Amino acid sequence: MTHEATVVDTYQITPRVSGFRLRVPGHEFEYDPGQHTTIRFGSGNERIVRPYTPTNLPGTEELAPTIKRYDDGLASSCTRSDRVTRSRSVR
Ligand SMILES: Cc1cc2nc3c(=O)[nH]c(=O)nc-3n(C[C@H](O)[C@H](O)[C@H](O)COP(=O)(O)OP(=O)(O)OC[C@H]3O[C@@H](n4cnc5c(N)ncnc54)[C@H](O)[C@@H]3O)c2cc1C
Repeated sequence: MTHEATVVDTYQITPRVSGFRLRVPGHEFEYDPGQHTTIRFGSGNERIVRPYTPTNLPGTEELAPTIKRYDDGLASSCTRSDRVTRSRSVR
C-alpha cells in the first residue's frame, strides 16, 4: 500500500545524517523493529525509490527515518535541507 506522506519535521544529527518525521494523517503504521519501508524521492517523472528503516516506535501515524546523505546519491542528495519538499510517498 502506498501513502503520500507529509514531511512534518527535519533535524540534523551529524553533518551528513538527518532525521525526518513523515506523517500520514489517519493511518497507523505497524511494523517490527528493524523492518524497512520504501520511500519515493523526486517529483513528476522522477521516480527514485530506496529502502529506509524507521527509527520510531510503531503504532503511530508517523515514520521517522534517519538518512545518510551522499553528495552523488540519487535519493539521499534530496535530503539536503534546500531540497526537502513536504510530500513523500511511503510504502
Ligand atoms: C533494508 C535496507 C534498509 C536501509 N535503511 C537505511 C536507513 O535507515 N538509512 C540510510 O541512510 N540508508 C538506508 N539504506 C540505504 C538506502 O536505501 C540507500 O541505498 C542510500 O540512501 C543511498 O541511496 P542514494 O540513492 O542516495 O545513493 P545511490 O545513488 O544509490 O549511490 C550511493 C553511493 O554509492 C555509489 N554507487 C552507486 N552505485 C554504485 C555502483 N554500482 N558501484 C559503486 N558505487 C556506486 C554512489 O556513487 C554513491 O556514492 C537501507 C538499505 C537497505 C537495503
